[in-house]
Amino acid sequence: MQEKLDQIKLDALAALEGIDNKETLDAWQVKYLGRSSTIMDVFKSLGTLSQEEKPLVGKAANLVKIALETASGDKENQIKQQRISQALVSEKIDITLPGRRAVSGGLHPTTQTLREIYRVFGDMGFQISLSREVETDQYNFQMLNFPPYHPARDMQDTFFLRSDEDRGDDPLMLRTHTSPGQIHAMLEHTRIYPDNPPPMRIILPGMCYRYEQITARSEIQFNQVEGLAVGKGITFGDLKGTLINFARRMFGQDANTRFRASHFPFTEPSAEMDVSCFLCGGNGCSVCKGAGWLEILGCGMVHPTVLKNGGFDPEVYSGFAFGMGPERITMMRHHIEDIRYFWANDLRFLEQF
Ligand SMILES: [Zn+2]
Repeated sequence: MQEKLDQIKLDALAALEGIDNKETLDAWQVKYLGRSSTIMDVFKSLGTLSQEEKPLVGKAANLVKIALETASGDKENQIKQQRISQALVSEKIDITLPGRRAVSGGLHPTTQTLREIYRVFGDMGFQISLSREVETDQYNFQMLNFPPYHPARDMQDTFFLRSDEDRGDDPLMLRTHTSPGQIHAMLEHTRIYPDNPPPMRIILPGMCYRYEQITARSEIQFNQVEGLAVGKGITFGDLKGTLINFARRMFGQDANTRFRASHFPFTEPSAEMDVSCFLCGGNGCSVCKGAGWLEILGCGMVHPTVLKNGGFDPEVYSGFAFGMGPERITMMRHHIEDIRYFWANDLRFLEQF
């Protein structure tokens, strides 16, 4: 009987030797350890043996069974390990492949124009002064010489931050122009230098808001760049020299300029500056509507009342101010016919710049 058991063990282990996958191992287990395997037949035949033989054969058969089970478990582990190392090779990630490029954004066309304006005025010694977008009626209108019920207010209807009943005497609003920044900047300057303040030259860029019907020509939000120079003995000649210089640096050395009389509550005298059309060279085209001139900015000598509101003595100090719309300049330069493109977030438009 012992010989038979040895033979069973030898046959089973020999068959196990060549197995290298889970399926054939399962089949092997059924054949050599399953219910109708030869080793199980030995256990089943124990009943026919004598009392002396039974424990001896039973023990020997059990040892064979345990040996086969152990060998089978080892084989199973070996197959598992093999599969893992194969996967490590076949499913390896090639980290040397180049990655997908991230889409890079660009500067908004208005930002590009703004930066050019900063550069030109920066060269002329102007500093950039940022100011708040939420203003009081006091700063947005009254200190700029727009008293309540002044007709010029009609052109600058805005968004209020509180309802009619809660507005009070000095309502909060979104600023309609960057000009209130002039008052803040002048007051800060004269607070720092209460006696004999040195001259100041600043530009004030930023977003402005107006309650408008949105059309191809008008938006409820837009940028402005305002400029201000205050000092002793500043004249209209300084204003013209500065702005003509700006026009040449911005639009080309052969850009012509002209000044037309105008009116603003916060400057006196006031003017509008035109630049010879940089698209047709002044011959007339659809952008300049045949005129050969493009209106670029409004300007003037700072009104004495505004100087006084900024803490300057208008008997001693004078100054000039100007304001322009970077979107408008961008539109003229690139022949953009609809201002709504600027804030519509349409990549087809933005990617062109
Ligand atoms: Zn033109």
